Formats: sequence, C-alpha cells, structure tokens
Amino acid sequence: MSTAPVRLSSWPIPLEPAPRLARAVGLGPDDLWVKRDDLTSFGGGNKVRKLEHLVAAGEAAGATVLVTTGGVQSNHARMTAAAAAQRGLRAVLVLTGEPSAARPGNLALDELFGARVVVCAPGEDAEERMAAVAGQLRAAGEVPAVLPLGGSTPTGARGYLACAAELAEQLPDLQTVVVAVGSGGTMAGLVAGLGAEHVVGVDTGAVPDPEARVHELATALGATPGALRLRRDQVGEGYGVLTAAAAAALRTAARTEGLVLDPVYTAKALAGLVAAVTEGTLRPGGRTVFLHTGGLAGLFGHPYATELAAAALDGA
Ligand SMILES: *Cc1c(COP(=O)(O)O)cnc(C)c1O
Repeated sequence: MSTAPVRLSSWPIPLEPAPRLARAVGLGPDDLWVKRDDLTSFGGGNKVRKLEHLVAAGEAAGATVLVTTGGVQSNHARMTAAAAAQRGLRAVLVLTGEPSAARPGNLALDELFGARVVVCAPGEDAEERMAAVAGQLRAAGEVPAVLPLGGSTPTGARGYLACAAELAEQLPDLQTVVVAVGSGGTMAGLVAGLGAEHVVGVDTGAVPDPEARVHELATALGATPGALRLRRDQVGEGYGVLTAAAAAALRTAARTEGLVLDPVYTAKALAGLVAAVTEGTLRPGGRTVFLHTGGLAGLFGHPYATELAAAALDGA
C-alpha cells in the first residue's frame, strides 16, 4: 500500500472558475470552480489518479497484465487499457452488459489501446470471470494484477488524497466539493483528505451500498469520517439511465461554459449540486468546487448522444 505511485498524467490538474454556470445554478458568479479531472491523460477522467497507485502496486508484485471489470462503457476499463499500454503491460477487460451494435465510445478506445475484451454472458458473475481469466493467464506464465470495479481499493483511493491536496493548495478556503459517486473511491479519498463535512457525494446507483463503501475506504486511509454527505436523490431509474434533471444539467454546463458532462456520472453530480442549492444546503457566498470526473467517451457510448445528434439535424 505504501509503494510510490507511477506517473500516468501531468499534475496538478487546473481548477477553473465557472461564473456563468454558477449563475445558472443559483450561486453567485464567484462561488463556483470546476476541477478539471476530465483533462487527465488517456481520454480523461478520475481513474488515472487511482491507477497511478494500483499500477505501482501491481508492478511491485511483478505484474505483466492488468485485469479489471466494469460495464461495456466503463471509463475505468478504458483507462486501465491505456495505462497498461503506457507501462508496457497487457490488459484484459471483463465487461458486463450488452455492447451496442456500433461498439461506440469506450469500447472503440479499449480496442485502440490494445486490450483484450471479454464480455460476460447475461447473469454471469464478473468477479468469478476475472478469477477464471487470471487463472488462465497464470497458467500461460503471466502475472495478472486483478483490479476491482472502478479501481476502488484503499490503494486506488489514495489517488484522491493527492487530489484533495491539490485542491487545498489551489483554493485554501474551499468549503464544499461536489462529486459523483460510483464505486466510491473518489469520494473516499476526498473525505480522507478534506474531511467529510467538505465533500458532497452524489450517488449514481453503480453499487448497492455506496455509503458503506465510502466509509470503509476512507477509514482504510486513516480517516475517521463521521457523517457522510451522500445524496441518493439523483439515481432515478438506475445506473446509466438518464434523468430529466441530469439531462438539464448536461445542457446547462454545455451552454454556459462549453463544458461537456456525461450522462452516467457527472450530469447526475451537477443535478445533485443544483438540488443542494435549491434546498439551501449549498449557499451563495461559499466556495464550491464541482469535481469533473470525466466520461466524455462514455457520452459517445450512451444512447443519449444519438438522440442529441438526431435533434440537431431536425432543427437544421
Ligand atoms: C468511475 C467514475 C466516477 C465515479 O468514481 P468512483 O471512484 O467509482 O466513485 C465518476 N465519474 C466518472 C466519469 C467515472 O468514470
């Protein structure tokens, strides 16, 4: 757990003011910043920070191949494939769900980065399949490093301790960071680095027990987290299913700042921020950071992108 991280991107990541978005969501123009973790390497996104630690631990154990899992549009799987390429390792991605016929978005990048993609049968347990794949790799003389969903282990979550330190330096009187919660490691690292009172997580429905996971991971990082500020009101019909509030948030960010969110994570996170302003738990005058965790490739792999393109043509 204490292996030094490998470097997979350029740091620090910029923190940008977002005055037009701030006004649009009911805050003052000087109240809102966006932490651009969508601008990391490998097509952008939060998983790079975790992978710097996970790959370091894997390499220390002699790994020759990274094995991980996620949905067919997993940003984490895509960035794991890229990290493997950059380190001279192989990658096997054990994906769940049904790939759409066009194989768009992250799937196209998985192939480009040279990963082997295994799609689970409906109902098949991804963890068991990863274990089987790892067994086959070992039998073939490889040394697999198996990374869980979202890279959310205590080792991976350490990447967001580093992000918390960047934020504390960039905006010393920061009050609240708002972040999407999937497998929980990102929020956990921020909670461990900044304190639970400074982090609002917006659940996206990726795992059944986000609160327990975040609590456990933050505790493993040495924090005593106390009460987590975790909103579960933006999940809607479930993980990956766009809500009206998230669609509105996507448009608002795009049309006020030229900032592209994704339908699965960051649009729901911004919708959670809007809900917090509406109910008065986030107030004008406080310094709020919206952590942009990436997902652009996922947008292009989501049916919503097709809808948007169709609407653009109708309006021409
Ligand atoms: C994975 C992911 C998240 C969620 O991060 P966790 O650490 O899994 O909670 C948020 N946004 C994007 C774009 C992601 O790919």
